[in-house]
Formats: sequence, structure tokens, C-alpha cells
Amino acid sequence: MNWIEGFIRDEIKKLQPYEVPAVSCRVKLDAHENPYELPEFVREQITKRFSKISFNRYPDANAKELRKNLSLKLCVEPDMIMVGNGSDELILYLLLCFGKKKIIYPLPTFSMYEILALVAFSKPVGIPLQDNFEINDEAIIYEAGKEDAIIFLSYPNNPTGNCFDKSKIDRIIRETTSLIVLDEAYYEFSQDTFLPYVYDYERVVVLRTFSKAFGLAGLRVGYMIAQPHVIQQVKKVKLPYNLNVFSQMVAAIAIENAALFLPIVQQIKKEQERIMEKLNGIDKIKVYPSKANFILFKILSNISAVEVFKALLQEGVLIRCLDNIPGVENCLRVTIGKPEENDEFLQAICKVMLEN
Ligand code: PMP
Repeated sequence: MNWIEGFIRDEIKKLQPYEVPAVSCRVKLDAHENPYELPEFVREQITKRFSKISFNRYPDANAKELRKNLSLKLCVEPDMIMVGNGSDELILYLLLCFGKKKIIYPLPTFSMYEILALVAFSKPVGIPLQDNFEINDEAIIYEAGKEDAIIFLSYPNNPTGNCFDKSKIDRIIRETTSLIVLDEAYYEFSQDTFLPYVYDYERVVVLRTFSKAFGLAGLRVGYMIAQPHVIQQVKKVKLPYNLNVFSQMVAAIAIENAALFLPIVQQIKKEQERIMEKLNGIDKIKVYPSKANFILFKILSNISAVEVFKALLQEGVLIRCLDNIPGVENCLRVTIGKPEENDEFLQAICKVMLEN
């Protein structure tokens, strides 16, 4: 055994690095990104302020301007908000602060809950979704009843796209003493939120991101809303300058001009309905309803999801193959792109399915 094998933590030894393979394609519909450029006015504001940034100085450790703009938009006090280098970072902070416990989440869901739980000395426990992709509230409550736990719920759920039954989540909140993290990464598309619960329960935390509807995936900005004393505790594990000066500035401008992003969100939702309808019309494909900016579908033909994925890539269209994920076997997930990109995807999938 070489030195590193004996030295590394057991949990980390078992993990694989999160690698994103560099695949060349013409149409990229694999990562829930927003296909549109920023609104013109937002771009102008960024350009105006760019020359005044002091790159030699550390960023504002408290991200005051961004938190103030978020607080005005969300109607919550600034001390209820923490910003992070993507919501990924905030998931890690929650685990570092409250973890070393059982971390419960439905399966399949966003993979970082499990990965970061292992990284943060916690014990991940996945509870399979039911056949209709609904959460098993009974099983979650039972697991959470055994010991202190943190429950992560992606709302809408990635990769299935549905919002879980609100009354089941209500029940989980009421019948456990766990910390419950509602990850609303796709909120702007679903328009459904648990934000008011933050006032009623100190155990409820809401996560959001600028990576999807606001089209800032490249800048890595997420935020968390919780009661002030909860935020105060999480601050203890936060790196001092976790969000760089440029990302803070752009996100502050974006949220101040949130209304300008509405037509983009509407266009994406309109396109989603169109793709849904077209996919539904293709033989041997089962399409699942979605409240997010992507659609999950299952291949019911002799050809496998992996083969469909490869055939699409041959046509220059990259989507996501979920074939190896339990619960979504033989499924693929497509992110909603611009109309012309969606057309290319639809043409390619029609061709592949007709030929097989
Ligand atoms: N939560 C969910 C449910 C997601 O799907 C994603 C990204 N795919 C994230 C969080 C991470 O978002 P961010 O870019 O803000 O780290």
C-alpha cells in the first residue's frame, strides 16, 4: 500500500472526483444553464461599473450591496441572507456547521447532497422516491426520528423535475426535529416556494441560485435564507471572502433588475411546453412533467438511453444520460435551450427514434 492509500480518509477514498468531461457539441443542453445572454440594460450596468472595481482589494466579506438588494427583492431582512460561491458552497457550509449527523434526501436527487455529506463527516441516507417521483414522507420521518438529522429536498427535484407534494413536506417539517433544507435552485421557473416557512421555523432553510434563471452559472453565486441566529452560526464556517468582487457586483445588478429576466423565464417555459408536446408525440418515449428548466424522459424502445445519447451527440446535440442512476433507469434529461437549439434536439431525437 502506498502512503496516500493509508493516509487518506476512508470516505474520500471511496469518492470519485466530480469531473465534467469536455465534450464538443454544437448544441449544449446538458447542464440546466440559461441559454440567453444577460439583458442589454444589465450588461450596460456591468460595463459601467467594471472599470471602477478595485481588483487589488479583497471583496466585501459581508457582500453588503448584494444582500441588501436581495433583501429588498425578497422582503426579508439582510441578516437572514448569506451568499455563497454557488449554492453548492452553502450546502457544504450547512453540513460543516450542523452536520456530523445523518443526512437524509430522496433518491434520485441532486448528487452533491451525498458527496458533500461524505466530505463533511456526515452519514448520507437516500430514501427512494415512489413510482410517481413523489417523496416517501413516512420513510423520511421514520429515518429522521431515529437520531438528529438534516433533510435536503430539491424543490423542484433535480433530475425528476417535479415539485413534491407540499402537504408531505409540511408533514416532514411538523413531525421531525430535523434541519430541513429546501433547495429552490429552479424557483424562478416553478414559482413555488417555502420561503414563508423560514419565519415560522428556525429549522427551515431555503437555498436559491443565480446559476439558472439569472444566467450567471459562470459566476457561481448562490444564497441562503434562514432566521438571523441560524445565519449567525453558519457564518462561523464561512470562508472570509467566499464570493469574489465581480460576482458580487453582477449578482447585485441582476437582482436589482430581476424584472428584466422575466421575459427570458417566460420564453424558456413556453419552449418547455413545446418540447414536452413534441416529445409526447414520439412513439416509445415517456415524458415526465417538469416545473424546472429541463425535462426528464424515458426511452421505452429496443434502443437504450445510452445509445440515444450517443446518437444525439453524433448529431452535435449534448444532453444528459441518467442511465446509471437508480430510479431513472434508461432516462435522459434535456435542458431547455433557445428555440433553434430545441429544434435541433427535436429533429435529432425524432430521427434516432424513427430509425430504431
Ligand atoms: N441545487 C440543485 C437542485 C441543483 O440542481 C444545482 C445545480 N445543478 C445546484 C443546487 C447548484 O447550483 P449552484 O450553481 O448555485 O452551485
